[in-house]
Amino acid sequence: MTETLAQPQRSEFKAEIRQVLDILVHSLYTEKEIFLRELISNASDALNRFKLESLKSQAVVDRGAELGIWLEGDPEARTLTVRDTGIGLSAEEMQTYLGTIAHSGAKRFIETLKELNGGDTQTTRDVIGQFGVGFYSVFMVADEVTVTSRSHDPAAEAAYWRSDGQGSYEVGPAVKAERGTTIEIKFKEDAKEFAETYRLRGIVKEHSDFIAFPIYLKEDGDWKQANARTALWRESPRDVEADKYKTFYQQLTLDFQDPLHTLHFTADMPIQFYALLYIPSRRDYKLFRSADDYGLKLYARKVLIDGTFRDLLPPYLRFIEGVVDSEDLPLNVSREMVQATPAVGRIRKAVVGRVTSELERMAADEPDSYRTFYREFGSFLKEGIASDRDNTERFLDLLRFPSSRTEGEDMTSLREYVARTNPEQKDIYYVLGDDVEVVARSSHLEYFREHDLEVLYLTDPMDTFMLMGLTDYDGRLLKNIDDAELELPATGEAELELPKDEAFISLTAFVKQVLGDRVEDVRESKVLKGGAARLVNPVGGTSSFFRAQRLMGRDVEVPKKILELNPKSDLVKRLGERLKANDKDPLLLVLIEQLFENELLAEGLHPNPAEMIPRLQQLMMEVVKVTS
Ligand code: ADP
Repeated sequence: MTETLAQPQRSEFKAEIRQVLDILVHSLYTEKEIFLRELISNASDALNRFKLESLKSQAVVDRGAELGIWLEGDPEARTLTVRDTGIGLSAEEMQTYLGTIAHSGAKRFIETLKELNGGDTQTTRDVIGQFGVGFYSVFMVADEVTVTSRSHDPAAEAAYWRSDGQGSYEVGPAVKAERGTTIEIKFKEDAKEFAETYRLRGIVKEHSDFIAFPIYLKEDGDWKQANARTALWRESPRDVEADKYKTFYQQLTLDFQDPLHTLHFTADMPIQFYALLYIPSRRDYKLFRSADDYGLKLYARKVLIDGTFRDLLPPYLRFIEGVVDSEDLPLNVSREMVQATPAVGRIRKAVVGRVTSELERMAADEPDSYRTFYREFGSFLKEGIASDRDNTERFLDLLRFPSSRTEGEDMTSLREYVARTNPEQKDIYYVLGDDVEVVARSSHLEYFREHDLEVLYLTDPMDTFMLMGLTDYDGRLLKNIDDAELELPATGEAELELPKDEAFISLTAFVKQVLGDRVEDVRESKVLKGGAARLVNPVGGTSSFFRAQRLMGRDVEVPKKILELNPKSDLVKRLGERLKANDKDPLLLVLIEQLFENELLAEGLHPNPAEMIPRLQQLMMEVVKVTS
């Protein structure tokens, strides 16, 4: 039951909201006009909520009233009135929603501003633009704001809320017969332009043109509709101008850049729906919003069911923005029930299929756009393969990697890789690492270069996860070239069997004793040509797990590997001789430690490279002693 307020009550804003207000009131943010976008968006939410509510309940105030938003500016009085016939607010709701409850958006806004502390003004501007910070942004332009509202609930009485945005607000009883909310704004001197009709018309066009309810503007005594109100997604793609798509995207996402790609289609079988989807041009355009703030706008028969409906996309396609509208969805049900309807699953399947074929088309016909797409969003495809291989088979041909055959920015697809292999090569080879430059120098590659075998460079952090789902392609296994058991294709030339050198055999045994537990084994390399040593994976071993754990910030032990030594390398030969001359040589131990850690470093496995510095200095001292 709603309590009647006999007396006006003064309350303090919650601390967080006070902080937001303080920032907004003193902000030098130039695009103050966004306050109107925020108020209109709140009004539109309230209208949508009323529409849904009225489907469920008969008892509502003013059932017949037109659903809309009315704007009336008065330049002389420096005021603006924004009125809607939405769900309305009771006095209690005003207390709760306009002043006391911690507002998650407000909290994040403050945190982000703190993080950006000293950040450039452009970033701060984008942040304000992206957060909107809702209702409170009106205090960027207002000296005083009065909200008068009548809830749709017949039991609730009309109430008002008033504040100058300084620290407190007042709530009291009001007289209002019609359902909905009226916001009266008294502008600051330097914001009086927002009382001008032409200014209001421009702002509505730019920021709120696609609001589904009519926005009426009082012009010369008449009410004129100021927004186009088009459900763009319901129009025929042939009739929509490119500019409209862009404006719609910007109003939908608040991204001020153009989208990279637009996909507009309708489907009839097995389920009817309209979809207007976008790929943003940058991955991080909503860096300042929380990671789980994604989803498509879902309409059922033009009624907005949810502004961020997640179930129409698998999580790995969460970068896609847009609208889906279906005639085949049940209407007067909760969000949870919509999620459970089979229709949602069917729409999702169709959406994923269309997005995938569009990416395939883009990869084939628009390589430049595809390259941008892949740079920004390629890791999402990899995430899809890692988490849902069964449904992402088609993503495999969308992957691109640098390799030992590509140059600069170029990348290869798996299909192109396979097409280039010679008939003897059965597997697909890759090397894991942190960086193309480092990987390209890996000693593992010697053999492959020499035998003209292409190796993919998997250097994106996401690649490690991707390998959980990507074990084979086109009937070929993907093999890490540090795999000790790798069966390499016969190359025709017989490898020269070296006579077993006794010094080398003792060295191998000695190194094994020195490194002890830290290696699985120490043995001769059949593969290395010039390099002294390399680390390979024992059977069944893998460094992917280690990498994945480390990427997630976990402290894990370095995986045990096999150290292979190259008997042909001069360095190894010298070490063998040194051991033979004196097996108590203290410097020998230092050299072996360094040799081992060099390989850890090359593999990107060294837990703390800085620890090598004292040893390197010791070795430098030895060199200086000998040569001076
Ligand atoms: P947000 O819209 O992000 O929730 P706001 O600060 O803009 O945050 O608004 C706070 C709350 O006030 C809204 O969630 C809503 O409950 C209420 N509200 C704001 N404007 C209206 C309105 N025109 N009609 C009904 N309720 C409103």
